[in-house]
Amino acid sequence: MSLLTIGTVAFDALETPFGKTDKILGGSATYISLSASNFVKKVNIVSVVGEDFPQEYITMLEEHGVNTKGLQVKKGEKTFFWSGKYHNDMNARDTIDTQLNVLENFDPIIPEDYQDCKYLMLGNLVPVVQKMVIERMRSRPKLIVMDTMNFWMDMMMPQLKETLKLVDVLSINDEEARQLAEDYSLVKAAKKIMAMGPKYLIIKKGEHGALLFHENDVFFAPALPLEDVFDPTGAGDTFAGGFIGYLAATDDISFDNMKRALIHGSALASFAVEKFGTERMVGLTEEEVEERIQQFVDLVQFDIKVENTL
Ligand code: AMP
Repeated sequence: MSLLTIGTVAFDALETPFGKTDKILGGSATYISLSASNFVKKVNIVSVVGEDFPQEYITMLEEHGVNTKGLQVKKGEKTFFWSGKYHNDMNARDTIDTQLNVLENFDPIIPEDYQDCKYLMLGNLVPVVQKMVIERMRSRPKLIVMDTMNFWMDMMMPQLKETLKLVDVLSINDEEARQLAEDYSLVKAAKKIMAMGPKYLIIKKGEHGALLFHENDVFFAPALPLEDVFDPTGAGDTFAGGFIGYLAATDDISFDNMKRALIHGSALASFAVEKFGTERMVGLTEEEVEERIQQFVDLVQFDIKVENTL
C-alpha cells in the first residue's frame, strides 16, 4: 500500500561519547523513508533542502526506493541544520543548534501521483506544515501517524495541538509525553493525550522500549539489549518508519497488527543506533532484518499458563 512521508531532510552534526561528526546526512524524513523502504517498495517523500545539499544523498535515497519527486531544492538557500550532543546516558541529549534555513518558508507541495497514498507519516516538522499536508490530501488517508519533539512544543504548542486533533497515532518519547500532558505519570499522560485527538499513542522510552496505548489497552515492546550504542540519532524516526512501513505493507490497522508493527519498528531502530547517522540503515539486507525480528520474538517469548500458577 502506498506511503507518503513528510519531515526534514537535514545536515546533522553529532557528538556522542564515541566520537564526533561534521555535517552528515540526517533528518526525520530521511530516517523514516530509509526505514520504511525495508517493507514498502516505494516511499514518497515531501520535504525541502537547500542548494548546498549533495546530489549523491538524493541518489542514495532513490536507490533505496524513495521517490524524491516531492523533495524541493531551493536555489540560494541552505539546508536545515541540527546539532546534538549525547552524554554517557544516551537516553538524554542536548540540542546544541537548530538552524531552520529552508524550513522557514516551506510550502509543502504534494505531487499529483502522491494523492492516492493511504498511509501518511507526518515526520517531525513544523506543526503548521504537518497540518497543511493533511489538508492538501484530496481524500483523508486510511492512517495518519505523527511524530514531533520538544522543540516544537516549546515554540508552537497551540499549533501543535491543532495538528494533533487530525491524526490517528502520535509517536513521542516519555519526556515529550510528560511535557505535552503536563503529567509525570505516563499512564495518566497517555489518557490526556488521547483526549487531544489521536486514538493511539506510542511512548518511546529509548533503551527501555516503547509503549502502545489505545483506549484501555497497553502493549509493551522492548528495545534489544545491545553491547554498543554509538549514536541514538534517528532512532525515533527509524522506529516510526518501520512502524508505518509495516502497517502499509500489510494494510491492516487493527490493534493486533499495530503490536507487530511496534516490534518491526523497534527492530529497525536497533540497527540505526549501531553506527553514526544513517550509515547502518544504508544497505541493510532483508536477511539482517528478518534475523533481528526473530531476536525480538525470542527476547519476549515465554510460556506461562496463568491458571496453573494460581
Ligand atoms: P530522532 O533522534 O529520531 O529524534 O531524530 C533525529 C533527527 O531529527 C535528526 O536527524 C535531525 O536532523 C532531526 N531534527 C532535529 N530537530 C528537529 C526539528 N526541530 N524538526 C524536525 N527535525 C528535527
